[in-house]
Amino acid sequence: MSVVIPDVIDRDLCEQLDAGDPLGWARERFVLDNSLIYLDGNSLGALPRGTVARIAHLVEHEWGQGLVRSWTDAEWMRSPLRVGGKVAQLLHAGEDEVLVTDTTSVDLFKLITAALVARPRRRVVLSEEENFPTDLYVSQGVTALLDARAMRRVPRESLMRALDKDVAIVALTHVDYRTGAVHDMRALTDAAHRAGALVLWDLSHSAGAIPIDLNGARVDLAVGCGYKYLNGGPGAPAYLFVSTALQKELRNPIQGWLGHAEPFNFEIDYRPAAGIRSWMSGSPPVVAIAALEVAVDLALEAGAELAGEKARALTELFIRLVDARLARWNFDVASPRDAYARGAQVSLRHADGYPIVRALIDRGVIGDFRLPDLCRFGFAPLYTRYVDVWDAVDHIVEVMQDGAYRRGEYLHRAYIT
Ligand SMILES: *Cc1c(COP(=O)(O)O)cnc(C)c1O
Repeated sequence: MSVVIPDVIDRDLCEQLDAGDPLGWARERFVLDNSLIYLDGNSLGALPRGTVARIAHLVEHEWGQGLVRSWTDAEWMRSPLRVGGKVAQLLHAGEDEVLVTDTTSVDLFKLITAALVARPRRRVVLSEEENFPTDLYVSQGVTALLDARAMRRVPRESLMRALDKDVAIVALTHVDYRTGAVHDMRALTDAAHRAGALVLWDLSHSAGAIPIDLNGARVDLAVGCGYKYLNGGPGAPAYLFVSTALQKELRNPIQGWLGHAEPFNFEIDYRPAAGIRSWMSGSPPVVAIAALEVAVDLALEAGAELAGEKARALTELFIRLVDARLARWNFDVASPRDAYARGAQVSLRHADGYPIVRALIDRGVIGDFRLPDLCRFGFAPLYTRYVDVWDAVDHIVEVMQDGAYRRGEYLHRAYIT
């Protein structure tokens, strides 16, 4: 880690770290209310300023004036490929290996189904019990649809042992949504390949937060969402990655017209397009893709290496302050203490986690809560400042000291997203 956090930390030090931050410029590129401490970019990323102007232009001119001509004149039709090519740079993938399309859940369906169909002699989708629910649900659904296929869910530490000749595909999430723990992508991918299985990585909590090297790790398949650290906006389209080596072999199970080799020939029979375009199904969400593009451009301008470096420093600072200032209130750091083994979030376990998070939100410190007892704090590297970390811990100390979180209104559990 190139940002070294000294032993003695105070707010001045945090200000100095901000002043020397090579990504300091990036915060100004976001619409952010300085009275908020926004630590939930792992759930919904902030709004880039550039998105406001881009969407206004798209709606007023490209749609309003250009109308149907904009599918070609404004390159709407190409946008899933163009923005996919940019996401590919963030992931160390080839330009023709990534497509922006659908949601992560639908992309999981497409890729897991395709992998099972391509490996008919193997029955099993292997995943971990702790995986994100949508990944588990989609796998369950797909294996129920296809004859004699099954899911195998094992605890994280048993994954290697669970690899055998029955496994068609290993589907895992790179950064755990609860704890922020990072899997060793290269080691698990290699092990799966040695067992003859394909590998799919869900990068929803990785892209935009930490560096990823899909080609370096020889990954087969990947998906990820656009609205967390990528800042693509609520319900932003997701992306999928299919390695060049597999593109001829795997086939999109949702054969729609826009994945056809010649969509505007309106032929009766499906013929897949060459390359990554065959993973398109229907019409792309042009407005949402434009919003994602602005955000991905910003992530590329910042660079994944610097973003990862800052994420490690911010999370390190937070953990150090938790150790120094919150010890008497029985918080447990649920995230790995090795900065390279965690993403851009830190989760704290506390028996009163839910009301504590509610009380913090009322003070303008936005984190979130995950069952059973996790207070999650995301430190999106493009717009979180070191002073935000300091101030957030100050607020936690005050909430614990004044006991406000014990007030009845916080105890009733409502839906926290
Ligand atoms: C957020 C998240 C998703 C989101 O799925 P959508 O279908 O795009 O809503 C999927 N997988 C993981 C691991 C996530 O964290």
